[in-house]
Amino acid sequence: MKIKLLGLLPSEIESVVLEEGLPRFTAKQIVDWLYHKKVRSIDEMTNLSKVAREKLSEKYEVGVTAYAGLAESSDGTKKYLFPVEIARPGGWKNLDGTPATEKSAVEAVMIPDEDRATLCVSSQSGCRMGCKFCMTGRQGFHGNLSAADILSQFIAVDESDKLTNTVFMGMGEPLDNYDTVKRVIDILTAEWGFGWSPKRITLSTIGVIPNLRRYLDETRCHLAVSLHNPFPEERYAMMPVQKAWNIRDVLELIRKYDFTGQRRVSFEYTMFAGYNDDKRHADALARLLSGLECRVNLIRFHKIPDFPYDCSPTPVMEVFRDRLCRSGVTTTIRASRGEDILAACGMLAGEHNKKNQ
Ligand code: SF4
Repeated sequence: MKIKLLGLLPSEIESVVLEEGLPRFTAKQIVDWLYHKKVRSIDEMTNLSKVAREKLSEKYEVGVTAYAGLAESSDGTKKYLFPVEIARPGGWKNLDGTPATEKSAVEAVMIPDEDRATLCVSSQSGCRMGCKFCMTGRQGFHGNLSAADILSQFIAVDESDKLTNTVFMGMGEPLDNYDTVKRVIDILTAEWGFGWSPKRITLSTIGVIPNLRRYLDETRCHLAVSLHNPFPEERYAMMPVQKAWNIRDVLELIRKYDFTGQRRVSFEYTMFAGYNDDKRHADALARLLSGLECRVNLIRFHKIPDFPYDCSPTPVMEVFRDRLCRSGVTTTIRASRGEDILAACGMLAGEHNKKNQ
């Protein structure tokens, strides 16, 4: 199997070219072809000599994966299916000593909205966090995506040149694959990379505290936290991760950072009828977030099989929103997008894995 150049940092590409006996300046040219011009093959790097291209192609490839499936919603939302090769957990090796992999698939969702086009990207195949209301969580964990897998989602979608924003909110918990996600963010935000402002990027997490601290220290991107319930025992019943990383500790950490300027923090709150949608919850949520410059997004729950709760009715969501707003917490009901193609929040599962559900 060839080594992918996509996802490498300039210093790593320099090591590659020096190892291959090519001039040092070739590294800069390759970086430009990969991240500015977004080519799909080494052959397209036309300012490299033919010899250099042939030499590189013996061991390396660009590594952009094309999408293998596409579903379009009546509201313009598009869901892309990407095949991925995931290293088998447990350090398995093939007989030739290369890491054993298995085929899987992940999804990315492009959400158009007036002059914006937001790409919701996946960072893992499956997820080990096991949230009870989530289709991805149900399928278990298959493995981490590589930087090339994640960057392919940006490069291969039809709207690649029109993307204005991204959210790490697809399949997987991005802070459970943090080193790779951080590498992708570095490539997205560097001048030598995509040149995006950090303000265009939001990472959504359930609150993996050690890596959340790193993310807040090491990037200037926005944060979204999946909160869903202000009461620890009730949150734990839906989100086993609450045992390891209590939402109160997550908030204590977040309060140490400045969200009064360009950087924003929001809290995702999926509404389950009769479970987390009454006055008691609204008031406890307001107390939990009191004094924090933030926004709460109320999310419509999309019914999934073998799960006891439905989505709260719209009037209940509106009362909940108004109560929070009166307590001083900016709250909106998020418009649901792509429901007809199973692209809405919590519905991503990956075609490949559907037969297992
Ligand atoms: Fe994983 Fe997020 Fe689903 Fe929880 S909601 S299981 S963290 S993908």
